[in-house]
Formats: sequence, C-alpha cells, structure tokens
Amino acid sequence: MTPMNRYDTNNVFAKIVRGEIPCKKIFENDHVLAFEDIQPQRVIHFLLIPKKPFADLNEFAATADDALCVAFWRAAAHIAKEHHLDEKGWRLIINCGEHGRQEVPHVHAHIIGGEDVGAMLTPSSS
Ligand code: AMP
Repeated sequence: MTPMNRYDTNNVFAKIVRGEIPCKKIFENDHVLAFEDIQPQRVIHFLLIPKKPFADLNEFAATADDALCVAFWRAAAHIAKEHHLDEKGWRLIINCGEHGRQEVPHVHAHIIGGEDVGAMLTPSSS
C-alpha cells in the first residue's frame, strides 16, 4: 500500500482544511494552518498542520517538498513567538503511528506551553 493510499480524506483535520467543520484558527498561510486543540492539555495547546494531505510524519518527511517542510517548522516557531512561548520555553510534540498513539491520521504538531508543561514522559502504563 502506498502512503497516499493510506490517507483518509474524511479525517477530521482534512475536513477542517476544507472548511467543512469549524476550528479556532490562530495562524494560516499558503502552506499550513494552526488552530486550538479541542481538548487542551495545557494553558496553550495549538495544533499545526500542513494543508496538503500527509497521513503521518513518516509520509510528510519523505514526500513533502522542501518549501512545505521549511514552512512547517518556521510556522511552529513563529506561532510560539507570537504567543510569547519563546520567553520561557515550550514543547512541540508529533505523535506518529500506533506506538506513537497518533489519533488523527493527518500529520500534526502539538504546540504546548504557557506554563511548565511537565516531564516529557511518565512511566509506561496503558
Ligand atoms: P494525536 O493523538 O496526536 O493524533 O492528537 C489529536 C489531537 O486532535 C487531540 O489532542 C485532540 O484533542 C485534537 N482534536 C480532535 N478533533 C479536533 C477538532 N475538531 N478540533 C481541534 N482539535 C481536535
């Protein structure tokens, strides 16, 4: 199965990109869209996605063009700075695949901060 065959065009972030369901948008340019996570885990919890369809980070890193890859990382840092997260620090999380506990099959980065976000990982449980 090729990566593109894996992409589910009905995933929730695809619907947000197409404007079929709403989001609380905080940033957008030609390449990416960022919006508030619907279930924020910290004071600030945004999601950053490319507008083009990539199921996960494996596919994004392997097939996205250079301009999009650069735009993605630049947008993450830009958003963090806009919200003053650069002053005391922040965290970027990309869950990938089954073991990474990725829930939405459209590559996305969690931008988390606004407080001490805590230890990177807790001991393995369920
Ligand atoms: P992940 O486990 O990395 O796939 O994270 C998926 C994230 O998407 C979770 O933090 C959810 O709260 C978030 N999420 C799911 N549906 C929506 C939505 N409609 N708008 C905003 N965030 C969402």
